[in-house]
Amino acid sequence: MKPLQMKIGPEWRPGRKQFDTVDPYTGEPWASVPEGTKDDVNDAVAAARSAFDRGPWSDMLGKERAALMRRLADLIRENADELALSESRDNGKLLREMRAQMNSIPAWFDYFAGSADKIDGRVIDTGRRDYFGLTLREPVGVVAAILPWNSPLLLLTFKLAAALAAGCTIVAKPSEQAPVSILRLAELFDEAGFPAGVFNTVSGSDRRIGEWLVQHPDVDKVSFTGGETTGIAVARSAAEHLAPVSLELGGKSANIVFPDADVHAAVNGLIAGVFAAAGQTCIAGSRAFIHRSIYETVVDAVADRARSIVMGDPKDPQSEMGPICFSGQVAKIRNLVDEAILDGATVVAGGSDGGLGGLFYAPTVIADVRNDSRICREEVFGPVLAVLPFETEDEVVALSNDSRYGLAAGVWTSDVRRVMRMARSLRVGTVWVNGYRTLNYTMPFGGVKASGYGRENGMEGLSEFLRDKAIWIETSGDVRDPFIIG
Ligand code: NAP
Repeated sequence: MKPLQMKIGPEWRPGRKQFDTVDPYTGEPWASVPEGTKDDVNDAVAAARSAFDRGPWSDMLGKERAALMRRLADLIRENADELALSESRDNGKLLREMRAQMNSIPAWFDYFAGSADKIDGRVIDTGRRDYFGLTLREPVGVVAAILPWNSPLLLLTFKLAAALAAGCTIVAKPSEQAPVSILRLAELFDEAGFPAGVFNTVSGSDRRIGEWLVQHPDVDKVSFTGGETTGIAVARSAAEHLAPVSLELGGKSANIVFPDADVHAAVNGLIAGVFAAAGQTCIAGSRAFIHRSIYETVVDAVADRARSIVMGDPKDPQSEMGPICFSGQVAKIRNLVDEAILDGATVVAGGSDGGLGGLFYAPTVIADVRNDSRICREEVFGPVLAVLPFETEDEVVALSNDSRYGLAAGVWTSDVRRVMRMARSLRVGTVWVNGYRTLNYTMPFGGVKASGYGRENGMEGLSEFLRDKAIWIETSGDVRDPFIIG
């Protein structure tokens, strides 16, 4: 295994030590990753600060930043297969899913490259005859981007493409479970010709790396994707130096099937919502609310399809679900399911490793659960669907909203009036109607409540990395009373 290195300013730096990442399917170590230190964090932030404050990046026009971003997009396109394989080996997700993600990422950079020379301020009526007012939209500065393991490059891209378009510099901290693709991306930055210090990486298995980064007084903005508990710790640390934070956290999303839905499409949507990526996705539709009149039909169909899901080598195109990323995550899934069973739940499908052992956990459907039980309140982050019946629209809105989380929801119905009512009533950041698990660079994405705050993607995502400066220009030449504000 060739030891990977971190990119800190112009330098490629090995770790003082290296650690191995393990392929969850084979159980074998497959990449040697640098163990970063506090000095590495300090040096990476200093490099990002210096590139932001002076040097070629700080002088670049929007169209020049855009040209570099488009070159990077091309390089990602050329290297998509290799990047996809490294993500699949790091986190065990299907190679074909990671390939689709890698092939979609260049469009993110192209889209935001298109916005880099359209970051306009406003001319504003100051309410005064003697003043002319305008605003500048300026990059927020040095961004700390902290990532989880489930879709490392795509989730980094949500932050990175917008931050680069805005003119920010970045220090990225990948998850210890899946750092390889992000370290590799730094090589493509060099190849694309980005100035040193624009994109820096610090990896490590020590949780303090993220803490040191967030606490650093020269970090101007923290953009975090991960779990709720970590998100709260990150927001607290960043508050010590008043750095703004955006938080993309977990979810417990409702996927709601009304009796007038296309049942075939809805069943497929329930499967896509929670068994794709083996449920290791923040937007997992892990609570299915099914109208009582079609409850048995839908549960039977979902359970049948769940039982037929092919688990296996994530690199095999026939596989539909790979293993879970690491053993701690499997234990968490198992505990939550076992506790639900003790609590009176019925396992309709799955509930075990499916006979495959290792880090596999079979697609699981659980019925006879209460919305206030742990399995319905906590994010499982695994292939576990809790199914609950409902009778009225008001009831299902109340049940769906009765959650700490508010990331997303799915609604399956053919009644357009109901669509509008549901879209308004659900307290979440995204509502999919007759679809699920669709994202695009044009559409804002983010949560409410314990799912976090801030938005990624779309022009809303760009705004996260900009701040407005107000300019007042005196036009009369009169000398004013210095003791009166006005
Ligand atoms: P996590 O444990 O919260 O870790 C996320 C990142 O934070 C990792 O890089 C982690 O480093 C780092 N970290 C840990 N402690 C830290 C601290 N005190 N200060 C700063 N950084 C710290 O989350 P995960 O298990 O990797 O990912 C799963 C979670 O991410 C789920 O809850 C999922 O819903 C959420 N997620 C949300 C979205 C979204 O867009 N809303 C998307 C994907 C995933 P180490 O890996 O080294 O511990």
